[in-house]
Amino acid sequence: MSALDLPGYTHVYSGKVRDLYAPLDADGQVVDDQLLLVASNRLSAYDEMLSPEIPDKGAVLTRLSLWWFDQLADLVPNHVVSTDVPDAVSGRAVLVRKLQMLKVEAIARAYLTGGGLEEYRAKGSVSGVALPEGLVDGSKLPEPVFTPTTKAPVGEHDLPMAPDEVAAELGAEVAAEVSRLTRAILARGNEIAAARGILIADTKVEFGVAPDGSGGLVLADEVLTPDSSRFWPAELWEPGHPQPSYDKQFVRDWLTSAESGWDRTAGGPPPELPAHVVEATRAKYVEAYERLTGERF
Ligand code: ATP
Ligand code: MG
Repeated sequence: MSALDLPGYTHVYSGKVRDLYAPLDADGQVVDDQLLLVASNRLSAYDEMLSPEIPDKGAVLTRLSLWWFDQLADLVPNHVVSTDVPDAVSGRAVLVRKLQMLKVEAIARAYLTGGGLEEYRAKGSVSGVALPEGLVDGSKLPEPVFTPTTKAPVGEHDLPMAPDEVAAELGAEVAAEVSRLTRAILARGNEIAAARGILIADTKVEFGVAPDGSGGLVLADEVLTPDSSRFWPAELWEPGHPQPSYDKQFVRDWLTSAESGWDRTAGGPPPELPAHVVEATRAKYVEAYERLTGERF
């Protein structure tokens, strides 16, 4: 995880995809109410970090989140302070309010797949919400369902949280608000994306509150990006089997092809991505951005 030497900032954390820096004041002291969120070009698939990186991925996802924050501004306030950032990370970094993050991954599902589908097959319900019979992989749900998970430490898997566990963690009132907002964000996202040929099957958002607990929930992290959501091309949607993912399908297909020669089950690291796969993946991210926003990247 590469920490950059950014004048006026000090590195504080690197996640799988993003690097966090704290601003320094004129005396070199850490400013503790703000953070610089820098999106890298790192890409993972099948839980493996891939190499090389995908050019422009960090900038595409940063611009897409900023665009969505605007589209959602009437639903929920967000953490963005400024996009005036050091040149070295220009276009892929945002200065944000440093919040106390809620210890819940706020997930909502509009279509059934992945972990939600497994739970439905076992119980006929998802996160305590009873669903109609006969749903299959890729089915549209009658309305978005809130399916929160724990925020597991790095290297561990997030676990589903039952409604009473969320209420115990956040308090009943905040838990209800997190559920309502998460579903509203996904519903708004799908209203906008549908007109542009993209279905957003599910998404994860993160909320925070001011460190002193004042004020309401603030939408933080990233929002409605291909890293935090499942995007499906609407014209290929066909319930009954796994849907092609908008952005990573290309990489996944190549990794499992004869050309890559990778044996996933053998446990070895994935091979280096060839230039044509890197370029096609980059093009997919750019296409998602351009289709959704209607702007040129
Ligand atoms: P992953 O998303 O791959 O599970 P991760 O969440 O640890 O890993 P990143 O997404 O790469 O890592 O890094 C973003 C981190 O910044 C997350 O821990 C997120 O909770 C945190 N974060 C986002 N916005 C804010 C904010 N406004 N205040 C404080 N922390 C924030
Ligand atoms: Mg994250």
